[in-house]
Amino acid sequence: MLPLLNWLTKQKPEMVASLRELVELESPSNNKAALDRLGQHIAAEFEKLGGRVQFHPQEHAGDHLQVNFAGAGKPILILGHMDTVWDQGTLASMPFRVANGRAFGPGIFDMKGGIVLAIYAIRALQQERGNLPRAVTALLVSDEEIGSKSSRSITEALAKKSAAVLVLEPAQGKDGALKTSRKGVGEYQVKVTGREAHSGLDPEKGASAVLELARQLLVMEKFADRKNGVTINPGVISGGTRTNVIAGEATAAVDARVSRLQDIRRLDKKFRSLRPFDKRCQIAVSGKVGRPPLERSKQVVELFELARRLARELGWELKESAAGGGSDGNFTAALGIPTLDGLGAVGEGAHARHESVMIAELPRRAALLARLLETL
Ligand SMILES: [Zn+2]
Repeated sequence: MLPLLNWLTKQKPEMVASLRELVELESPSNNKAALDRLGQHIAAEFEKLGGRVQFHPQEHAGDHLQVNFAGAGKPILILGHMDTVWDQGTLASMPFRVANGRAFGPGIFDMKGGIVLAIYAIRALQQERGNLPRAVTALLVSDEEIGSKSSRSITEALAKKSAAVLVLEPAQGKDGALKTSRKGVGEYQVKVTGREAHSGLDPEKGASAVLELARQLLVMEKFADRKNGVTINPGVISGGTRTNVIAGEATAAVDARVSRLQDIRRLDKKFRSLRPFDKRCQIAVSGKVGRPPLERSKQVVELFELARRLARELGWELKESAAGGGSDGNFTAALGIPTLDGLGAVGEGAHARHESVMIAELPRRAALLARLLETL
């Protein structure tokens, strides 16, 4: 085991150089050409290691990249994404740079650092063990940051064929904790239709959609259940046309999150049962919790315990944490496939301009990933 870590420690400068290459190939979720360039680059890296590359072509999204490594047993699925939240051209004002033991750049933490770890974990196993101890599939999708619409079915199909799923999302905090639970995430649109009227000439003929929506917001606020991890945020509201017109329409876009699968149905029923206080208004509800929660199930805990034991052998006390945001690991965990998330780089500032990874942590994170691949 230590030889793995020793070898990886020697590769640190090379890992940083690889990271730079990935960061300098910008890859916003909405830029197919850019994503495909990055996909080709990563595919070539995996091919050098003997992986069999397969693209899942997409018309609008970037092509999703699957790489299969032959080996014994049911494969382990390594799951990541190539897209970032940063627009093309961000590099000009936020270039790749190294300072104070950190590497900075758009998408470096979420999650190009994780992709580099996967490449070096496989390299380390080949170098130190001669070969991969088991079958490994890597899936790098191009649309995770915008809801994984075109990749979800591919992720789920591969997960079903796999023994476990290791997710390359950023680690939590400076300790580099893994993520053993994540919230399920959804969005609802609540649209109120009222009756327009002149606010001065015949106010009694109007039914204000804005006032009705205001009342409904207070009802929705009560859908939250802090203790069980249900949160509601009507983050965007709009409505009305002019101050002297009683509003005919008003809409709220509501972020909804749950910790437990069982709360999805219950919450949905509550949204669907919203009824107008003013009977002249109508309410239309659309949306859902589309990304199920990653629950801290027995399987997840077992997988984390294994990772903790392997980390301890590397001389480090691994911690676990809960995340409020979702990842593609939510899909695979909801299928009952053992899933461990947050195995990517240690750093800070995901989706923020100070986004960075800690260079010193790269070797042991890659070593942990390699140890999981050969122990699972
Ligand atoms: Zn991510």
